[in-house]
Amino acid sequence: RVLLIITIMDKIPPAIPNLEIKYTKLFINNEFVDSKDGSTFPTENPATGKEICRVSEAKAADIDAAVAAARKAFQPGSPWRKTEPKQRGILLNKLADLMQRDLHYLASLESLDAGKLYSSCYALEIQACIDVIRYFAGWADKDHGSTLPMDDGFFAYTRHEPVGVCGGIIPWNFPLTMFSWKLAPCIAMGNVLVMKPAELTPLTALYLGSLIKEAGFPPGVVNVVPGYGKTAGSALSRHMDVDKIAFTGSALVGRQIQKDSAETNLKRVTLELGGKSPNIVFADANLDYAVEMAHIAVFSNSGQICCAGTRTYVQEDIYDTFVKKSVERAKKGNIGSPSSLTTEYGPQISKLQKDKILKYLEGGVKEGCKIECGGVQVEGNNGHYIQPTVITGLTDEMTVTKEEIFGPVQQIYKFKDVSEVLKKANNTRYGLAAAVFTNDLNKAMTISNGVEAGTVWVNCYYKMGPTLPFGGYKESGFGRELGQYALHEYTEVKTVAMKINAPGL
Ligand code: NAD
Repeated sequence: RVLLIITIMDKIPPAIPNLEIKYTKLFINNEFVDSKDGSTFPTENPATGKEICRVSEAKAADIDAAVAAARKAFQPGSPWRKTEPKQRGILLNKLADLMQRDLHYLASLESLDAGKLYSSCYALEIQACIDVIRYFAGWADKDHGSTLPMDDGFFAYTRHEPVGVCGGIIPWNFPLTMFSWKLAPCIAMGNVLVMKPAELTPLTALYLGSLIKEAGFPPGVVNVVPGYGKTAGSALSRHMDVDKIAFTGSALVGRQIQKDSAETNLKRVTLELGGKSPNIVFADANLDYAVEMAHIAVFSNSGQICCAGTRTYVQEDIYDTFVKKSVERAKKGNIGSPSSLTTEYGPQISKLQKDKILKYLEGGVKEGCKIECGGVQVEGNNGHYIQPTVITGLTDEMTVTKEEIFGPVQQIYKFKDVSEVLKKANNTRYGLAAAVFTNDLNKAMTISNGVEAGTVWVNCYYKMGPTLPFGGYKESGFGRELGQYALHEYTEVKTVAMKINAPGL
């Protein structure tokens, strides 16, 4: 990623300064509206700690309005239900075109609101969102049921039908990416969507609302309702007229959503939750490459990635050198404004999140781990910055080994052989991703077959794309996003068995 950005740096225009914020109201039924009780909430720039603007705050009554709009759009005979599959694909491609047109604005806005590196938003992330939308646009008229073997005199087939009104609840670390991953298969399969973005990052989701209208989607097909989890999120996940919730976020909230579904209408639930992914480096790997990839695996997006390779396992022969090189690398990067093209490490999303990370480090030291570098906030800055941190001297029992820190903290462990590291790698409640660096095919295969994770990277990290399914084992959730598997999460399968009255046949 870093290399790609460096090679195309001169083609990236500078982030738009003094950005005009165009949309701050709820997007319901293709209109931007105030919340029913007029409430608003602030969204801030994580790089400065300053308020950007206030945004209309959805509460239960607004969620009701958004769900009603979506339900109306989904009624049999509505313009959306009469839209041909091919046309759904055309609309999604139109949306992708508009995102491409407004890439510069979207990248600047995402960086401002989420504290994400503008260069990465511009060169990689939003382009990847566009690719995902185009990929699912292609599926709109290609997914279908099949005919089934049956007794004589009968004919049977399956129909793939949309699930109905889908609710999306997403986190703040990849606002547009998470929106696109849910929107694209949902819409391609003919559903309608009420999306609740994270309260910390509502702005690009609202802007996407304007593009959805401009692309020509009928009113109510996609609605965007920013608000807090305990009010707006909960109202959506407990709503009796919502057929499915697609959630990405913490395991804690994922459990609550599962419970909400059980206590209400047993709506379908897919959960993309946290991770504590192992990154295993064998002594035969290309050392400098593995150090760099392990660094990227942890520190990209300021360590705020669900599938970050936070537990770096290094074989004993190269352990000391690996730690030394990793520390040098962590000290080298440029910490600064996310809008600058030369910044490598931006801020954490909020003061709360920064304090949580520092508390984990404090607890880790008390439990006996050693901070090799970093471990403190960046002084003289009102933004929520933490120095890139490397820690060692860790055991499997420590809280920092077990829990998701969600920050720029690389934890390096020593191991002896394949069987020991596999045991350690799997000694976690999570199972989102894993990686292995080795030039020995047997080791690569043994680890990738044995590790309990939804994605395994061999000699690479973060290799993702629209065609590759993504999701978790164990407490990292269930269901898959991206790839053909994602279509199943947004379809009901209807079986039709028919008696054929054809005497003489
Ligand atoms: P979070 O769980 O606190 O919040 C996620 C979303 O849930 C937000 O929109 C929030 O408003 C909403 N929410 C909170 N309480 C709710 C409730 N009671 N009912 C309904 N909705 C509620 O997570 P976060 O702090 O925004 O994001 C960080 C977490 O997300 C990390 O654990 C990270 O690993 C995970 N994550 C996972 C993936 C993945 O694909 N597996 C991707 C990104 C982030």
